[in-house]
Amino acid sequence: MSAEPFAFCPRCARPLADRPIADDAGTVVRRACPDDACGFVQWGNPTPAVGALVEHEGEIILARNRAWPEGWFALVTGYLEAREDPKAAVVREVKEELGLDVVETHLIGNYIFERKNEVMLCYHAVATGTVRLGEEIVEYRRHAPAELRPWPRATGFAVADWMRARGLPFEFVDFKQPAPAAPGGEGTR
Ligand SMILES: [Zn+2]
Repeated sequence: MSAEPFAFCPRCARPLADRPIADDAGTVVRRACPDDACGFVQWGNPTPAVGALVEHEGEIILARNRAWPEGWFALVTGYLEAREDPKAAVVREVKEELGLDVVETHLIGNYIFERKNEVMLCYHAVATGTVRLGEEIVEYRRHAPAELRPWPRATGFAVADWMRARGLPFEFVDFKQPAPAAPGGEGTR
């Protein structure tokens, strides 16, 4: 993960050190290569990922990742491939995880997920076909849109904004346990 500090320079393999680095924003201590000729700095830029609020036959499908405890259901999420358009990533992830064909994508918004240093690009994805779960997913649930209960982080804010835009009342409900380590942002239950 990009949130994890490197121990060694990925360019020249010297051990990285915390060094004051000056740029337009001022001087900040960052993980950097001690060799000025190499010049590598670990900037810690967040990693983008996509989240899909999947609508199928008028209902919302939430999925439980293999790595998550029972009772945790969330949006379909995943990382972008190199140079992949976010909408194409949504189409690919929904096909891989639910076996459904996305026919419409609508951007809901972009949300930071601080714990994992990610930015979730969240879409409402209308899909058709028959659900066939991919390897990462152990089970799924169908909900009427009004039944969704967003968690107060990352993809949950996307669910909340989507509900708000439709005039659906909602309340945030937090997970009872630490957030799981699976990729992407866990959304709702
Ligand atoms: Zn270096």
